[in-house]
Amino acid sequence: MKDISLVALSENRKKTIIEVGNVKIGKDFLFIAGPCSIESEEQMYGTAVAVVEAGSNMLRGGAFKPRTSPYAFQGLGLEGLKILEKVGKKTKTPVITEVLDTRDVSWVCEYVDVLQIGARNMQNFSLLKEVGKVNKPVLLKRGMYSTLSEWLNCAEYILNEGNPNVILCERGIRTHETYTRNTLDLSAVPAIQELSHLPVIVDPTHSTGRKSLIEPMALAAVASNTDGLMIEVHINPCEALCDKDQALTPAEFSTLSAKVKKLKNFMGELD
Ligand code: PEP
Ligand code: MN
Repeated sequence: MKDISLVALSENRKKTIIEVGNVKIGKDFLFIAGPCSIESEEQMYGTAVAVVEAGSNMLRGGAFKPRTSPYAFQGLGLEGLKILEKVGKKTKTPVITEVLDTRDVSWVCEYVDVLQIGARNMQNFSLLKEVGKVNKPVLLKRGMYSTLSEWLNCAEYILNEGNPNVILCERGIRTHETYTRNTLDLSAVPAIQELSHLPVIVDPTHSTGRKSLIEPMALAAVASNTDGLMIEVHINPCEALCDKDQALTPAEFSTLSAKVKKLKNFMGELD
């Protein structure tokens, strides 16, 4: 691949390890869980305690939601970020949230440990340049119509501005299939690992959009040697304001997490 000298794997460029709190991303398995959007302190805290107890080492929660309809819940904004920060401190767990706008990047950094660039903004080059200037790691989701080359070039934009800490996240691409929300491209994981030194994780939630498919695809992602998973969990999915059909309950997440741990151990025995 041309022009990706900063993100490309090479003999003198070993795998990137990103330290966030106690987690060494790229070495330790990254397990991000939490609701699609932050709705209240009770909802965020209740979910956080349960997922941390089940083995999650980073909390997610959206404060700015990129919704298809302008009339759908758009997120709590600053109020949500304050809740997320508080819950992260109380549970001693780092937190991640999505930024949609260049004007929000620097002040959002004051509340979170990692910034997320969503699929819809993967090629928002102004936003990529902006997150490239801050000192927080960036989780860059794959755009739903993007090739691996386009995705890696977007990571290159961030590194080119001086921020070396990028985590890639495969979240499914759009195909002619309509049963699933997107099509999870798991071959992206080993492909990225042979092309780049950056850690790559998988989001089986947005890629399937169906609760029943999340666990099997999470386990398949582990088998593909992903550096981590991002999964949406809600304390009460029926009442979720966003993405309720794909949110796991804390109990379902706990079952999934135990299976992930077993599979990781088994894979360790294979090495
Ligand atoms: C999200 O993770 O909240 C999200 C909106 O995902 P994506 O950008 O992958 O659609
Ligand atoms: Mn969501």
